[in-house]
Amino acid sequence: MAAHIIDGKALATRLREQLRTDVEQFKQSTGRPIGLATVLVGDNPASEVYADSKRRLSKQAGIEDHHRRLPKDATQEQVAHALDELAANPAVSGILLQLPLPAHLDATALIDRIPWEKDVDGLTTISAGRLARNVEGLRPCTPLGVISLLENEGVQLQGANVVVIGRSDLVGKPLAQLLLQKNATVTVAHSKTKDLAAATLQAQVVIAAAGVLHLIGAEHISAGAVVIDVGIHRTEDGLTGDVDFSAASTVASKITPVPGGVGPMTIAELLRNTLKAAQLQS
Ligand code: NAD
Repeated sequence: MAAHIIDGKALATRLREQLRTDVEQFKQSTGRPIGLATVLVGDNPASEVYADSKRRLSKQAGIEDHHRRLPKDATQEQVAHALDELAANPAVSGILLQLPLPAHLDATALIDRIPWEKDVDGLTTISAGRLARNVEGLRPCTPLGVISLLENEGVQLQGANVVVIGRSDLVGKPLAQLLLQKNATVTVAHSKTKDLAAATLQAQVVIAAAGVLHLIGAEHISAGAVVIDVGIHRTEDGLTGDVDFSAASTVASKITPVPGGVGPMTIAELLRNTLKAAQLQS
């Protein structure tokens, strides 16, 4: 039987509608605005598209736009100065430094200038530590989106065997930590894993975040498992993921498509993080 397709677009739309109400309530009860600063350095076309859609959807949710744009030859000091100004501005609730940065910049040092209460991407060293210690803070958006999708589908995480494929600071590692906090039994597979299928076939939930086109096929999925595809690849036939969707959906019980699965959830969680940041600061 073909798998149920998990509709990330529909859930993201619902979450953004709810957020609009919550943002309005926050503004009325505190008398304070909520603002998001996207910081874009250079003219990478994909980054421009991502930053534009984050700005458009945040404005729709009632969040003020404090976008900053710097030239591609901006120095480390100039970007640091822009981040420091936004950090000091009380109208800015959240700061997002759009990645990747031009190669001459030290991305880690710049990310770490963002105060943890404004770190809506959850990528600073302090936010990573707060996640690891499970204390209050802002968590990375894509992992949050994956958890929201699984919970909305009623997937039991407590006690479940979950395999996360990928161990990046952006997706795999924080996702593994969030899943541990949900009491899942978590295995993290990565580029040096010897037998990927042996790991994934033990799992009730398989989450692919390797950045390898169609890495996961039917032979990696046990009957009835849930499959979440974080990967994004632009091909001649359009967007696709790390999972061979047509093969895996013959075996899985539920599966996310690309596009329309995890992608829209990432932006919805960014906007939710911006409200949470404003709440942390008030
Ligand atoms: P990354 O390149 O930083 O990390 C990839 C990880 O996958 C590494 O830890 C590596 O060890 C592992 N890996 C690589 N090849 C593997 C293999 N053959 N077998 C097992 N593991 C392997 O990438 P990232 O930033 O974590 O992103 C991963 C994918 O998710 C990319 O396709 C990216 O475009 C996508 N992404 C999507 C969203 C979204 O909103 N949907 C957000 C962020 C990233």
